[in-house]
Amino acid sequence: EKAELNDFISEAIADDLKTGRYDHVHTRFPPEPNGWLHIGHAKAITVDFTMAQKFGGQCNLRFDDTNPEKEDMSYVEAIKRDIKWLGFDWEDREYYASDYYEYLYELAVKLIKKGKAYVDDLSEEEIRVYRGTAVADKNNITYTPPGKDSPYRNRSVEENLDLFARMRSGEFPDGSKTLRAKIDMAHPNLVMRDPVMYRIRRMPHYRVGDAWCIYPMYDFQHPLSDAKEGITHSLCSLEYEIHRPLYEWFIRECEVFPSRQIEFARLNITRTVLSKRWLLQLVQEKRVAGWDDPRMPTLAGLRRRGYTPEAIRDFMSRIGIAKTDSMVDIALLEHCLREDLNKRANRVMAVLKPLKLIIENWPEGKVEELDAINNPEDPSAGSRKVHFTRELWIEQDDFQEVPPPKYFRLFPGNSVRLRYGYIVTCTGFDKDPRTGEITAVRCTYDPETRGGNAQDNRKVKGTIHWVSVQHAIPIEVRLYDYLFAVERPMEVPPGGSFLDNLNPNSLEVIETAYGEPCLAKTKAEDKFQFERIGYFVRDPDTAGTKPVFNKTVGLRDTWAK
Ligand code: ATP
Ligand code: MG
Ligand code: MG
Repeated sequence: EKAELNDFISEAIADDLKTGRYDHVHTRFPPEPNGWLHIGHAKAITVDFTMAQKFGGQCNLRFDDTNPEKEDMSYVEAIKRDIKWLGFDWEDREYYASDYYEYLYELAVKLIKKGKAYVDDLSEEEIRVYRGTAVADKNNITYTPPGKDSPYRNRSVEENLDLFARMRSGEFPDGSKTLRAKIDMAHPNLVMRDPVMYRIRRMPHYRVGDAWCIYPMYDFQHPLSDAKEGITHSLCSLEYEIHRPLYEWFIRECEVFPSRQIEFARLNITRTVLSKRWLLQLVQEKRVAGWDDPRMPTLAGLRRRGYTPEAIRDFMSRIGIAKTDSMVDIALLEHCLREDLNKRANRVMAVLKPLKLIIENWPEGKVEELDAINNPEDPSAGSRKVHFTRELWIEQDDFQEVPPPKYFRLFPGNSVRLRYGYIVTCTGFDKDPRTGEITAVRCTYDPETRGGNAQDNRKVKGTIHWVSVQHAIPIEVRLYDYLFAVERPMEVPPGGSFLDNLNPNSLEVIETAYGEPCLAKTKAEDKFQFERIGYFVRDPDTAGTKPVFNKTVGLRDTWAK
Protein backbone atom coordinates (compact mmCIF):
# COMPACT_ATOMS: atom_id res chain seq x y z
CA GLU A 1 0.00 0.00 0.00
CA LYS A 2 1.51 3.28 -1.08
CA ALA A 3 1.35 6.25 1.27
CA GLU A 4 -0.06 9.47 -0.13
CA LEU A 5 2.63 12.13 -0.21
CA ASN A 6 0.50 15.23 -0.13
CA ASP A 7 2.46 17.25 2.41
CA PHE A 8 6.10 18.15 2.98
CA ILE A 9 6.52 15.90 6.02
CA SER A 10 5.30 12.82 4.18
CA GLU A 11 7.68 13.70 1.37
CA ALA A 12 10.60 14.07 3.77
CA ILE A 13 9.82 10.75 5.45
CA ALA A 14 9.41 8.93 2.14
CA ASP A 15 12.72 10.37 1.06
CA ASP A 16 14.41 9.18 4.26
CA LEU A 17 13.09 5.67 3.63
CA LYS A 18 14.23 5.75 0.01
CA THR A 19 17.75 6.94 0.79
CA GLY A 20 18.07 4.48 3.64
CA ARG A 21 18.49 7.12 6.34
CA TYR A 22 15.90 5.08 8.23
CA ASP A 23 14.30 1.73 7.44
CA HIS A 24 11.12 2.34 9.46
CA VAL A 25 9.13 5.20 10.95
CA HIS A 26 8.68 5.91 14.63
CA THR A 27 7.18 9.17 15.92
CA ARG A 28 6.08 10.44 19.32
CA PHE A 29 3.68 12.94 20.83
CA PRO A 30 5.53 14.65 23.72
CA PRO A 31 3.20 16.67 25.96
CA GLU A 32 4.41 18.31 29.12
CA PRO A 33 1.90 17.41 31.88
CA ASN A 34 1.42 21.02 32.97
CA GLY A 35 -2.06 21.66 31.59
CA TRP A 36 -4.86 20.13 29.56
CA LEU A 37 -4.56 19.55 25.84
CA HIS A 38 -5.98 22.15 23.50
CA ILE A 39 -6.91 21.99 19.86
CA GLY A 40 -3.39 23.06 18.87
CA HIS A 41 -2.13 19.87 20.50
CA ALA A 42 -4.78 17.97 18.56
CA LYS A 43 -2.98 19.06 15.41
CA ALA A 44 0.34 17.74 16.72
CA ILE A 45 -1.32 14.50 17.85
CA THR A 46 -2.92 14.06 14.45
CA VAL A 47 0.33 14.73 12.62
CA ASP A 48 2.39 12.44 14.88
CA PHE A 49 -0.03 9.50 14.84
CA THR A 50 -1.10 9.70 11.22
CA MET A 51 2.49 9.95 9.92
CA ALA A 52 3.32 6.76 11.79
CA GLN A 53 0.16 5.03 10.51
CA LYS A 54 0.76 6.15 6.96
CA PHE A 55 4.20 4.52 6.85
CA GLY A 56 3.34 1.44 8.86
CA GLY A 57 5.21 2.73 11.90
CA GLN A 58 4.42 3.46 15.52
CA CYS A 59 3.83 6.53 17.65
CA ASN A 60 4.82 6.83 21.32
CA LEU A 61 3.17 8.91 23.97
CA ARG A 62 5.93 10.50 25.97
CA PHE A 63 5.42 12.84 28.86
CA ASP A 64 8.17 15.44 28.74
CA ASP A 65 8.10 15.87 32.49
CA THR A 66 11.38 17.40 33.56
CA ASN A 67 10.08 20.64 35.05
CA PRO A 68 8.88 19.77 38.57
CA GLU A 69 7.35 23.18 39.26
CA LYS A 70 4.26 22.91 37.09
CA GLU A 71 3.69 19.22 36.49
CA ASP A 72 1.07 17.03 38.04
CA MET A 73 -0.47 13.55 37.78
CA SER A 74 -3.93 15.00 37.19
CA TYR A 75 -2.60 16.49 33.95
CA VAL A 76 -1.21 13.10 32.88
CA GLU A 77 -4.65 11.55 33.37
CA ALA A 78 -6.44 14.34 31.51
CA ILE A 79 -3.99 14.16 28.60
CA LYS A 80 -4.40 10.39 28.22
CA ARG A 81 -8.18 10.61 28.33
CA ASP A 82 -8.29 13.36 25.72
CA ILE A 83 -5.95 11.63 23.25
CA LYS A 84 -8.12 8.51 23.45
CA TRP A 85 -11.24 10.57 22.98
CA LEU A 86 -9.75 12.08 19.85
CA GLY A 87 -9.37 8.56 18.53
CA PHE A 88 -5.66 7.79 18.76
CA ASP A 89 -4.01 4.89 20.56
CA TRP A 90 -0.43 4.62 21.78
CA GLU A 91 -1.12 1.07 23.03
CA ASP A 92 1.64 0.13 25.50
CA ARG A 93 4.06 2.78 24.30
CA GLU A 94 3.66 5.18 27.23
CA TYR A 95 6.90 6.79 28.33
CA TYR A 96 8.09 9.42 30.76
CA ALA A 97 11.21 11.55 30.36
CA SER A 98 11.40 11.39 34.16
CA ASP A 99 12.28 7.70 33.76
CA TYR A 100 15.36 8.75 31.80
CA TYR A 101 17.05 10.86 34.49
CA GLU A 102 19.85 8.36 35.07
CA TYR A 103 20.42 7.88 31.34
CA LEU A 104 20.47 11.65 30.81
CA TYR A 105 22.88 12.09 33.69
CA GLU A 106 25.25 9.59 32.16
CA LEU A 107 25.14 11.37 28.82
CA ALA A 108 25.92 14.63 30.59
CA VAL A 109 28.94 12.97 32.17
CA LYS A 110 29.97 11.72 28.74
CA LEU A 111 29.86 15.29 27.40
CA ILE A 112 31.95 16.54 30.33
CA LYS A 113 34.53 13.85 29.62
CA LYS A 114 34.65 14.92 25.97
CA GLY A 115 35.28 18.49 27.09
CA LYS A 116 31.86 19.47 25.73
CA ALA A 117 30.20 20.52 28.98
CA TYR A 118 31.21 22.48 32.06
CA VAL A 119 29.92 23.49 35.44
CA ASP A 120 29.29 27.22 35.65
CA ASP A 121 28.97 29.36 38.78
CA LEU A 122 27.30 32.30 37.04
CA SER A 123 23.72 33.01 38.06
CA GLU A 124 20.93 32.50 35.54
CA GLU A 125 20.72 36.29 35.17
CA GLU A 126 24.47 36.60 34.54
CA ILE A 127 24.31 33.81 31.98
CA ARG A 128 21.63 35.72 30.13
CA VAL A 129 23.67 38.92 30.15
CA TYR A 130 26.86 37.15 29.04
CA ARG A 131 24.97 35.44 26.23
CA GLY A 132 24.15 38.78 24.62
CA THR A 133 21.16 39.89 22.57
CA ALA A 134 20.32 41.00 19.08
CA VAL A 135 20.88 44.72 18.50
CA ALA A 136 20.08 47.07 15.63
CA ASP A 137 22.90 48.91 13.83
CA LYS A 138 22.58 52.48 12.54
CA ASN A 139 20.83 51.25 9.40
CA ASN A 140 18.38 49.37 11.61
CA ILE A 141 19.72 45.99 10.58
CA THR A 142 19.75 43.62 13.51
CA TYR A 143 22.77 41.52 14.31
CA THR A 144 23.98 39.62 17.32
CA PRO A 145 27.39 40.62 18.65
CA PRO A 146 29.39 37.78 20.19
CA GLY A 147 28.62 36.94 23.79
CA LYS A 148 31.15 36.75 26.60
CA ASP A 149 32.73 33.57 27.93
CA SER A 150 32.02 32.65 31.50
CA PRO A 151 35.13 32.80 33.72
CA TYR A 152 34.36 29.15 34.61
CA ARG A 153 34.26 27.98 30.99
CA ASN A 154 37.70 26.43 31.01
CA ARG A 155 37.50 24.30 34.12
CA SER A 156 39.28 20.97 33.75
CA VAL A 157 37.39 17.79 32.97
CA GLU A 158 38.28 16.46 36.44
CA GLU A 159 36.98 19.53 38.20
CA ASN A 160 33.78 19.47 36.13
CA LEU A 161 33.17 15.78 36.87
CA ASP A 162 33.68 16.40 40.55
CA LEU A 163 31.43 19.48 40.68
CA PHE A 164 28.68 17.85 38.65
CA ALA A 165 28.64 14.80 40.94
CA ARG A 166 28.40 17.14 43.91
CA MET A 167 25.59 19.10 42.26
CA ARG A 168 23.71 15.84 42.06
CA SER A 169 24.44 14.84 45.63
CA GLY A 170 22.98 18.08 46.90
CA GLU A 171 26.05 19.94 48.08
CA PHE A 172 25.17 23.28 46.49
CA PRO A 173 22.23 25.59 46.98
CA ASP A 174 19.54 26.06 44.33
CA GLY A 175 20.61 28.28 41.47
CA SER A 176 24.25 28.43 42.52
CA LYS A 177 25.59 26.30 39.67
CA THR A 178 24.52 24.99 36.29
CA LEU A 179 25.88 22.52 33.81
CA ARG A 180 26.31 24.08 30.37
CA ALA A 181 27.12 22.69 26.96
CA LYS A 182 30.40 24.10 25.64
CA ILE A 183 29.54 25.13 22.11
CA ASP A 184 30.23 28.65 20.88
CA MET A 185 29.61 31.96 22.67
CA ALA A 186 29.88 33.81 19.36
CA HIS A 187 27.38 31.63 17.50
CA PRO A 188 24.92 33.73 15.46
CA ASN A 189 22.08 31.60 16.91
CA LEU A 190 21.71 32.53 20.59
CA VAL A 191 20.37 29.07 21.35
CA MET A 192 23.85 27.68 20.58
CA ARG A 193 25.69 29.95 23.04
CA ASP A 194 26.54 27.39 25.71
CA PRO A 195 22.96 26.46 26.65
CA VAL A 196 22.20 25.34 30.19
CA MET A 197 21.75 21.54 30.45
CA TYR A 198 21.05 21.18 34.19
CA ARG A 199 19.97 23.44 37.00
CA ILE A 200 19.70 22.85 40.74
CA ARG A 201 16.13 22.88 42.07
CA ARG A 202 15.05 21.37 45.35
CA MET A 203 11.51 20.69 44.33
CA PRO A 204 9.78 17.33 44.60
CA HIS A 205 8.79 15.87 41.26
CA TYR A 206 5.27 14.43 40.91
CA ARG A 207 6.69 11.05 39.84
CA VAL A 208 10.21 10.67 41.21
CA GLY A 209 9.74 12.70 44.37
CA ASP A 210 12.98 13.89 45.99
CA ALA A 211 15.24 11.51 44.08
CA TRP A 212 16.89 14.41 42.25
CA CYS A 213 17.82 17.97 43.06
CA ILE A 214 19.16 18.68 39.58
CA TYR A 215 16.80 18.73 36.61
CA PRO A 216 17.67 18.57 32.90
CA MET A 217 16.58 21.42 30.63
CA TYR A 218 14.19 20.79 27.75
CA ASP A 219 16.72 21.37 24.96
CA PHE A 220 19.02 18.72 26.41
CA GLN A 221 16.36 16.26 27.48
CA HIS A 222 14.17 16.29 24.42
CA PRO A 223 16.55 15.11 21.64
CA LEU A 224 18.09 12.50 23.92
CA SER A 225 14.68 11.15 24.99
CA ASP A 226 13.77 10.90 21.30
CA ALA A 227 17.01 9.03 20.67
CA LYS A 228 16.43 6.69 23.61
CA GLU A 229 13.09 5.67 22.13
CA GLY A 230 14.52 5.29 18.64
CA ILE A 231 12.28 8.04 17.31
CA THR A 232 13.06 8.50 13.63
CA HIS A 233 11.01 11.62 12.99
CA SER A 234 10.57 14.08 15.82
CA LEU A 235 7.76 16.31 14.58
CA CYS A 236 7.12 19.57 16.37
CA SER A 237 5.78 23.04 15.89
CA LEU A 238 7.69 25.82 14.21
CA GLU A 239 8.91 27.64 17.30
CA TYR A 240 11.42 24.81 17.75
CA GLU A 241 13.05 25.50 14.39
CA ILE A 242 15.80 27.67 15.89
CA HIS A 243 16.47 24.90 18.41
CA ARG A 244 17.12 22.33 15.69
CA PRO A 245 20.93 22.92 15.47
CA LEU A 246 21.11 22.30 19.20
CA TYR A 247 18.93 19.18 18.89
CA GLU A 248 21.36 17.90 16.29
CA TRP A 249 24.40 18.92 18.35
CA PHE A 250 23.31 16.89 21.39
CA ILE A 251 22.49 13.86 19.24
CA ARG A 252 25.84 14.05 17.48
CA GLU A 253 28.02 14.76 20.52
CA CYS A 254 26.30 12.13 22.67
CA GLU A 255 26.62 9.63 19.80
CA VAL A 256 23.07 8.32 20.17
CA PHE A 257 20.35 7.23 17.75
CA PRO A 258 20.10 9.92 15.05
CA SER A 259 16.53 11.20 15.45
CA ARG A 260 15.51 13.87 12.97
CA GLN A 261 13.51 16.94 13.95
CA ILE A 262 11.03 18.37 11.43
CA GLU A 263 8.90 21.42 12.18
CA PHE A 264 5.40 22.27 10.98
CA ALA A 265 3.20 25.32 11.39
CA ARG A 266 1.48 25.89 14.70
CA LEU A 267 -2.27 25.95 14.64
CA ASN A 268 -3.78 29.31 15.46
CA ILE A 269 -7.52 29.89 15.41
CA THR A 270 -9.38 33.18 15.49
CA ARG A 271 -11.28 34.16 18.63
CA THR A 272 -9.18 31.95 20.84
CA VAL A 273 -5.81 31.59 22.54
CA LEU A 274 -3.86 28.38 22.09
CA SER A 275 -1.25 28.39 24.76
CA LYS A 276 -1.36 26.49 28.00
CA ARG A 277 0.01 29.47 29.88
CA TRP A 278 -2.93 31.67 28.88
CA LEU A 279 -5.45 28.90 29.39
CA LEU A 280 -4.07 28.22 32.85
CA GLN A 281 -4.47 31.91 33.68
CA LEU A 282 -8.13 31.81 32.61
CA VAL A 283 -8.68 28.82 34.89
CA GLN A 284 -6.73 30.18 37.85
CA GLU A 285 -8.41 33.58 37.73
CA LYS A 286 -11.79 31.88 37.39
CA ARG A 287 -12.61 33.63 34.13
CA VAL A 288 -14.02 30.25 33.13
CA ALA A 289 -15.42 27.41 35.21
CA GLY A 290 -12.39 25.14 34.65
CA TRP A 291 -10.22 23.50 32.01
CA ASP A 292 -13.32 21.84 30.57
CA ASP A 293 -15.50 24.94 30.47
CA PRO A 294 -17.43 24.68 27.18
CA ARG A 295 -15.93 27.99 26.03
CA MET A 296 -12.36 26.70 26.36
CA PRO A 297 -10.39 25.51 23.29
CA THR A 298 -9.22 22.51 25.29
CA LEU A 299 -10.27 19.10 23.99
CA ALA A 300 -12.24 18.59 27.21
CA GLY A 301 -13.95 21.96 26.74
CA LEU A 302 -14.76 21.20 23.12
CA ARG A 303 -16.16 17.80 24.09
CA ARG A 304 -18.37 19.40 26.71
CA ARG A 305 -19.42 21.99 24.16
CA GLY A 306 -20.66 19.19 21.91
CA TYR A 307 -17.74 18.81 19.50
CA THR A 308 -17.15 15.35 18.12
CA PRO A 309 -13.72 13.79 17.52
CA GLU A 310 -14.80 13.21 13.92
CA ALA A 311 -15.40 16.93 13.38
CA ILE A 312 -12.01 17.80 14.85
CA ARG A 313 -10.22 15.22 12.74
CA ASP A 314 -12.03 16.43 9.62
CA PHE A 315 -10.89 19.96 10.46
CA MET A 316 -7.30 18.76 10.82
CA SER A 317 -7.35 17.08 7.44
CA ARG A 318 -8.79 20.20 5.80
CA ILE A 319 -6.22 22.61 7.20
CA GLY A 320 -3.40 20.25 6.26
CA ILE A 321 0.24 20.63 7.21
CA ALA A 322 2.13 23.75 6.23
CA LYS A 323 5.56 25.20 6.84
CA THR A 324 4.46 28.71 7.77
CA ASP A 325 2.24 29.78 10.62
CA SER A 326 -1.19 31.07 9.80
CA MET A 327 -4.48 31.96 11.41
CA VAL A 328 -7.41 29.65 10.69
CA ASP A 329 -10.92 31.08 10.81
CA ILE A 330 -12.91 29.45 13.61
CA ALA A 331 -15.83 29.36 11.16
CA LEU A 332 -14.07 26.46 9.41
CA LEU A 333 -13.96 24.45 12.63
CA GLU A 334 -17.65 25.18 13.18
CA HIS A 335 -18.41 24.23 9.59
CA CYS A 336 -16.80 20.81 10.12
CA LEU A 337 -18.81 20.39 13.30
CA ARG A 338 -22.13 21.30 11.65
CA GLU A 339 -21.48 18.86 8.82
CA ASP A 340 -20.94 16.08 11.31
CA LEU A 341 -23.80 16.97 13.67
CA ASN A 342 -26.20 17.37 10.77
CA LYS A 343 -25.65 13.67 10.09
CA ARG A 344 -25.74 12.38 13.62
CA ALA A 345 -27.90 14.67 15.78
CA ASN A 346 -31.59 13.89 16.18
CA ARG A 347 -33.99 16.78 15.83
CA VAL A 348 -36.19 17.73 18.75
CA MET A 349 -38.25 20.76 19.61
CA ALA A 350 -37.37 22.98 22.55
CA VAL A 351 -38.62 26.43 23.44
CA LEU A 352 -36.05 28.67 25.08
CA LYS A 353 -38.11 31.79 25.83
CA PRO A 354 -41.62 30.43 26.34
CA LEU A 355 -44.90 32.16 25.54
CA LYS A 356 -48.21 30.35 25.81
CA LEU A 357 -50.24 29.67 22.67
CA ILE A 358 -53.90 28.77 23.27
CA ILE A 359 -55.77 27.01 20.48
CA GLU A 360 -59.32 28.10 21.16
CA ASN A 361 -61.10 25.58 18.96
CA TRP A 362 -59.09 22.59 20.29
CA PRO A 363 -61.06 20.70 22.95
CA GLU A 364 -59.80 20.95 26.51
CA GLY A 365 -58.00 17.72 27.51
CA LYS A 366 -57.66 16.33 23.99
CA VAL A 367 -54.19 14.93 23.15
CA GLU A 368 -53.16 13.96 19.65
CA GLU A 369 -49.92 12.15 18.85
CA LEU A 370 -48.16 13.40 15.75
CA ASP A 371 -45.32 11.75 13.89
CA ALA A 372 -42.00 13.57 13.88
CA ILE A 373 -38.98 12.39 11.90
CA ASN A 374 -35.87 12.17 14.08
CA ASN A 375 -33.30 12.95 11.43
CA PRO A 376 -34.04 13.64 7.77
CA GLU A 377 -30.33 12.95 7.04
CA ASP A 378 -30.48 9.50 8.61
CA PRO A 379 -33.49 7.26 7.85
CA SER A 380 -32.26 4.70 10.39
CA ALA A 381 -32.89 7.23 13.17
CA GLY A 382 -36.64 6.59 12.76
CA SER A 383 -39.40 8.78 14.11
CA ARG A 384 -41.10 9.65 17.38
CA LYS A 385 -44.46 10.90 18.61
CA VAL A 386 -45.02 14.47 19.74
CA HIS A 387 -48.08 15.47 21.76
CA PHE A 388 -50.37 18.16 20.42
CA THR A 389 -52.69 19.82 22.95
CA ARG A 390 -54.78 22.94 23.44
CA GLU A 391 -51.96 24.84 25.15
CA LEU A 392 -48.50 24.97 23.64
CA TRP A 393 -45.26 26.80 24.41
CA ILE A 394 -43.88 28.82 21.52
CA GLU A 395 -40.95 31.24 21.40
CA GLN A 396 -41.68 34.81 22.45
CA ASP A 397 -39.90 35.89 19.26
CA ASP A 398 -42.39 34.03 17.12
CA PHE A 399 -45.18 36.44 17.98
CA GLN A 400 -45.33 40.18 17.31
CA GLU A 401 -48.19 42.42 18.24
CA VAL A 402 -47.21 44.71 15.39
CA PRO A 403 -45.21 42.79 12.79
CA PRO A 404 -42.09 44.36 11.33
CA PRO A 405 -41.70 44.16 7.52
CA LYS A 406 -41.20 40.62 6.12
CA TYR A 407 -42.29 39.00 9.36
CA PHE A 408 -44.02 35.71 8.53
CA ARG A 409 -44.66 34.32 11.95
CA LEU A 410 -47.57 34.97 14.32
CA PHE A 411 -49.34 38.29 14.55
CA PRO A 412 -53.05 39.04 14.77
CA GLY A 413 -54.75 37.74 11.63
CA ASN A 414 -51.73 35.82 10.31
CA SER A 415 -51.34 32.06 9.91
CA VAL A 416 -48.35 29.82 10.54
CA ARG A 417 -47.66 26.14 10.36
CA LEU A 418 -46.87 24.45 13.66
CA ARG A 419 -44.05 22.02 12.85
CA TYR A 420 -45.44 18.46 12.30
CA GLY A 421 -48.86 19.79 13.37
CA TYR A 422 -51.59 22.07 12.07
CA ILE A 423 -51.85 25.48 10.52
CA VAL A 424 -53.12 28.01 13.06
CA THR A 425 -54.41 31.55 12.63
CA CYS A 426 -53.81 34.16 15.31
CA THR A 427 -57.02 35.57 16.73
CA GLY A 428 -55.65 37.76 19.49
CA PHE A 429 -53.51 37.90 22.60
CA ASP A 430 -53.68 38.54 26.33
CA LYS A 431 -51.75 41.41 27.81
CA ASP A 432 -51.08 42.23 31.43
CA PRO A 433 -52.62 45.71 31.76
CA ARG A 434 -50.07 46.76 34.38
CA THR A 435 -46.83 45.61 32.81
CA GLY A 436 -47.82 45.54 29.16
CA GLU A 437 -46.38 42.02 28.98
CA ILE A 438 -47.98 39.62 26.55
CA THR A 439 -49.03 36.60 28.59
CA ALA A 440 -50.66 34.41 25.94
CA VAL A 441 -51.40 34.30 22.23
CA ARG A 442 -54.72 33.01 20.99
CA CYS A 443 -55.43 31.21 17.74
CA THR A 444 -57.65 28.70 15.98
CA TYR A 445 -56.46 25.65 14.09
CA ASP A 446 -57.60 24.26 10.78
CA PRO A 447 -58.40 20.53 11.24
CA GLU A 448 -57.75 19.88 7.54
CA THR A 449 -54.05 20.73 7.83
CA ARG A 450 -52.65 17.95 10.01
CA GLY A 451 -48.94 17.42 9.37
CA GLY A 452 -48.87 20.89 7.92
CA ASN A 453 -50.49 19.86 4.65
CA ALA A 454 -53.17 22.31 3.67
CA GLN A 455 -55.09 22.10 0.43
CA ASP A 456 -54.16 25.66 -0.25
CA ASN A 457 -51.50 26.91 2.13
CA ARG A 458 -49.50 29.03 -0.27
CA LYS A 459 -50.09 32.01 1.95
CA VAL A 460 -48.59 30.28 4.98
CA LYS A 461 -44.93 31.22 4.84
CA GLY A 462 -43.84 30.62 8.40
CA THR A 463 -43.27 27.40 10.30
CA ILE A 464 -42.59 27.57 14.02
CA HIS A 465 -41.63 25.02 16.65
CA TRP A 466 -43.54 24.37 19.86
CA VAL A 467 -43.97 21.95 22.73
CA SER A 468 -47.07 20.86 24.62
CA VAL A 469 -47.45 22.70 27.94
CA GLN A 470 -48.84 19.54 29.48
CA HIS A 471 -46.05 17.25 28.25
CA ALA A 472 -42.90 19.36 27.95
CA ILE A 473 -40.17 19.01 30.54
CA PRO A 474 -38.34 21.99 32.02
CA ILE A 475 -34.68 22.13 30.99
CA GLU A 476 -31.81 24.47 31.70
CA VAL A 477 -30.10 25.86 28.64
CA ARG A 478 -26.65 27.45 28.56
CA LEU A 479 -26.04 29.62 25.55
CA TYR A 480 -22.37 30.07 24.81
CA ASP A 481 -20.69 32.65 22.65
CA TYR A 482 -17.00 33.16 21.87
CA LEU A 483 -14.87 33.64 24.94
CA PHE A 484 -13.18 36.58 23.24
CA ALA A 485 -14.87 39.57 21.69
CA VAL A 486 -12.18 40.13 19.05
CA GLU A 487 -10.75 38.05 16.21
CA ARG A 488 -7.20 38.04 17.55
CA PRO A 489 -7.30 38.14 21.33
CA MET A 490 -3.50 37.88 21.64
CA GLU A 491 -3.02 41.22 19.96
CA VAL A 492 -3.06 43.69 22.80
CA PRO A 493 -1.86 47.28 22.97
CA PRO A 494 1.15 48.04 25.20
CA GLY A 495 0.19 47.80 28.84
CA GLY A 496 -2.94 45.81 27.99
CA SER A 497 -3.77 42.18 28.62
CA PHE A 498 -5.48 39.52 26.55
CA LEU A 499 -8.03 39.46 29.36
CA ASP A 500 -9.22 42.88 28.20
CA ASN A 501 -10.46 41.09 25.09
CA LEU A 502 -12.75 38.73 26.95
CA ASN A 503 -16.35 38.77 25.78
CA PRO A 504 -18.46 39.83 28.78
CA ASN A 505 -21.48 38.04 27.28
CA SER A 506 -19.99 34.65 26.50
CA LEU A 507 -22.52 32.80 28.66
CA GLU A 508 -26.26 33.26 29.04
CA VAL A 509 -28.06 30.82 31.29
CA ILE A 510 -31.74 30.17 30.69
CA GLU A 511 -33.03 28.62 33.87
CA THR A 512 -36.31 27.41 32.50
CA ALA A 513 -36.77 26.42 28.93
CA TYR A 514 -39.04 23.60 27.80
CA GLY A 515 -38.25 20.59 25.70
CA GLU A 516 -39.87 17.46 24.38
CA PRO A 517 -40.22 14.76 27.06
CA CYS A 518 -37.61 12.55 25.33
CA LEU A 519 -34.95 14.97 26.60
CA ALA A 520 -35.50 13.66 30.13
CA LYS A 521 -34.00 10.28 29.28
CA THR A 522 -30.75 11.63 27.84
CA LYS A 523 -27.22 11.22 29.17
CA ALA A 524 -24.15 13.43 29.14
CA GLU A 525 -22.79 14.14 25.64
CA ASP A 526 -26.04 13.18 23.86
CA LYS A 527 -26.41 15.58 20.96
CA PHE A 528 -29.49 17.15 19.41
CA GLN A 529 -30.56 19.73 16.96
CA PHE A 530 -33.13 21.93 18.64
CA GLU A 531 -35.17 22.76 15.58
CA ARG A 532 -34.66 26.29 14.24
CA ILE A 533 -32.21 27.12 17.06
CA GLY A 534 -29.02 25.15 16.84
CA TYR A 535 -27.13 22.12 18.03
CA PHE A 536 -27.17 21.28 21.73
CA VAL A 537 -25.49 18.74 23.94
CA ARG A 538 -26.49 17.33 27.30
CA ASP A 539 -24.06 18.65 29.90
CA PRO A 540 -22.67 16.30 32.57
CA ASP A 541 -23.79 18.79 35.24
CA THR A 542 -26.59 17.21 37.25
CA ALA A 543 -26.39 19.53 40.24
CA GLY A 544 -29.84 21.03 39.68
CA THR A 545 -33.14 19.27 39.16
CA LYS A 546 -33.37 19.99 35.45
CA PRO A 547 -31.25 18.46 32.71
CA VAL A 548 -28.76 20.97 31.32
CA PHE A 549 -28.15 21.49 27.62
CA ASN A 550 -25.24 23.45 26.22
CA LYS A 551 -25.52 25.26 22.94
CA THR A 552 -22.85 23.79 20.71
CA VAL A 553 -23.24 25.99 17.64
CA GLY A 554 -26.02 27.75 15.77
CA LEU A 555 -27.50 26.46 12.54
CA ARG A 556 -26.25 29.11 10.18
CA ASP A 557 -22.92 28.32 8.60
CA THR A 558 -20.66 31.36 8.32
CA TRP A 559 -17.81 29.56 6.56
CA ALA A 560 -17.20 31.11 3.14
CA LYS A 561 -15.72 28.36 1.00
P1 ATP B 1 1.76 25.70 24.88
O1 ATP B 1 2.57 26.48 23.90
O2 ATP B 1 0.31 25.76 24.70
O3 ATP B 1 2.21 25.90 26.30
P2 ATP B 1 3.48 23.54 24.55
O4 ATP B 1 4.01 23.52 23.18
O5 ATP B 1 4.37 24.07 25.58
O6 ATP B 1 2.07 24.22 24.52
P3 ATP B 1 3.64 20.77 24.97
O7 ATP B 1 2.91 19.93 25.92
O8 ATP B 1 5.11 20.93 25.12
O9 ATP B 1 2.95 22.16 25.05
O10 ATP B 1 3.28 20.39 23.49
C1 ATP B 1 3.31 19.09 23.00
C2 ATP B 1 3.41 19.15 21.51
O11 ATP B 1 2.32 19.86 20.96
C3 ATP B 1 4.67 19.85 21.05
O12 ATP B 1 5.32 19.00 20.12
C4 ATP B 1 4.19 21.10 20.38
O13 ATP B 1 4.98 21.34 19.23
C5 ATP B 1 2.76 20.76 19.98
N1 ATP B 1 1.90 21.94 19.96
C6 ATP B 1 1.58 22.75 20.98
N2 ATP B 1 0.79 23.75 20.57
C7 ATP B 1 0.56 23.57 19.25
C8 ATP B 1 -0.19 24.28 18.26
N3 ATP B 1 -0.89 25.38 18.56
N4 ATP B 1 -0.18 23.80 17.00
C9 ATP B 1 0.50 22.69 16.71
N5 ATP B 1 1.22 21.98 17.58
C10 ATP B 1 1.27 22.40 18.85
MG1 MG C 1 6.33 22.76 25.88
MG1 MG D 1 4.95 26.19 23.96
